[in-house]
Amino acid sequence: MRRTVLTGFRGTGKTEIGRILSSKLNVPFIDTDVLIETRTGRSIPDIFHYDGEERFRSVEREVIATLPAADVIVSTGGGVVCDPKNMEYLRRDSTIVLLVADIETIEQRLAKKPRPPLTSLPLHEEIAAMMDRRRRNYYASADFCTDTSETSPFQAAENILALLQRGVPTSDQRNTALAFFRTGRLPPVPFKKLEDILVGADKDPTTRIMGVAGYPCAHSMSPKLFNALFDFCHLNYHYTWFEDPELDEIMDVARAIDAKGLSVTIPFKHDVIQYLDEIDEHAAQQIGAVNTVVFACGTGIGYNTDWLGVRKPLISMKGAKAVLLGAGGVAAGAAYALKDLDMDVTILNRTPENAKKLAERFDCAWGTWDKFERIKPDLVVNATPLGMQPDTRNPLREDQLYKDLTVFDLVYTPPVTPLIEAARAKGCRTISGIEMFIEQAREQFYLFFGMDIPVEKVRELVG
Ligand code: NAP
Repeated sequence: MRRTVLTGFRGTGKTEIGRILSSKLNVPFIDTDVLIETRTGRSIPDIFHYDGEERFRSVEREVIATLPAADVIVSTGGGVVCDPKNMEYLRRDSTIVLLVADIETIEQRLAKKPRPPLTSLPLHEEIAAMMDRRRRNYYASADFCTDTSETSPFQAAENILALLQRGVPTSDQRNTALAFFRTGRLPPVPFKKLEDILVGADKDPTTRIMGVAGYPCAHSMSPKLFNALFDFCHLNYHYTWFEDPELDEIMDVARAIDAKGLSVTIPFKHDVIQYLDEIDEHAAQQIGAVNTVVFACGTGIGYNTDWLGVRKPLISMKGAKAVLLGAGGVAAGAAYALKDLDMDVTILNRTPENAKKLAERFDCAWGTWDKFERIKPDLVVNATPLGMQPDTRNPLREDQLYKDLTVFDLVYTPPVTPLIEAARAKGCRTISGIEMFIEQAREQFYLFFGMDIPVEKVRELVG
């Protein structure tokens, strides 16, 4: 049996429900808080009071790293989900069930068995503040989610057993999803794999599906990378292509098969917002585009990691004079990243009105392509599809490139684009679109699973 791990805020019932599950499944039960007390010979309030939270978290990390690998039910402390290292150990070959409850229920339960406060706030406010702070980490930790507000511990344990034995989608939902993928452009081998996972005789109902949503998106490197990361991290997930001209269809199927999340690409990054319950402040309010959707506990949350993928490789260029070519979806994230690095940014675009619109949102200068020479930038970022296979055009002429220019081509198919090739020949510093892809994918992985993947590992898997 895969290890079953319970996460959630205190007062959601992890210990009691964990004990019931352990007796029903006839496997041992481990409470990580009890292990910490046994290992240190002290109570948790005592460790918090005399040594502080940092010391407690360090012992907690040691305990989690040495948990048995299988045939066990594990109940975890409320804050474990915030540490990516903990998530790496807890997620390995495990099914994680997130327990949630409403604030009033948690308050009533905690009032019955007083515990040390985590802040100086009154209990109700403390619960609200802590849950809010940790909520996205809880969602990232969840393979499944169950609400214990109105259920007895026995009923909650029954609900979890049903999740573990049957998963979430019904057989009708699985067949409908399969029909959707059959009409898409999935090649035969990935389709067969998906068919086995969804409706195969030996299917594991706890295998979760996720993927890239776009039209077209067959070129996306995300399925290859994410599936390799799932093998590397021992996650029971499969990543596929949700390729369809109708976003409505994609979102219906994603919700019906209880997809863990979606990477979103052209042309849906803006339109997807209307399907979501919540958007992070970078994605919605500033950039106006979502490239990452995390589903958990019936909620769909949208994020943008594109801008982080542009920002990271340029950190050393704070304050530079930059030209951004293009004014589409990716350019919006790029403009946000460049401004976040205090750069002096000019947006040049084929259609000047689009450059003007984007420039006004981010307080940049704007113009048409022919303005490039007059600007003499330190950095040029290509956010147009020029040079993307099978296109072989270069957005800049050779005579527009010079040695002190840094060229960041966001196009990553092929890895060495005509622009990068010409810039290298001129002695420019060049950054490939692969770097953006790697960084935005690492951020996505964190949002989906709460884990940090080393950049070298992602680079190796992207190949
Ligand atoms: P988009 O929303 O369609 O925007 C495309 C932009 O390029 C628009 O400003 C458009 O100008 C301009 N453009 C299109 N064709 C042009 C042409 N023939 N000549 C001059 N300008 C042209 O696309 P997007 O989502 O922003 O994506 C842009 C590129 O970013 C993609 O092609 C992809 O290669 C790259 N990308 C990279 C990553 C990564 O991880 N590295 C991730 C996503 C995307 P108008 O306003 O005049 O139409």
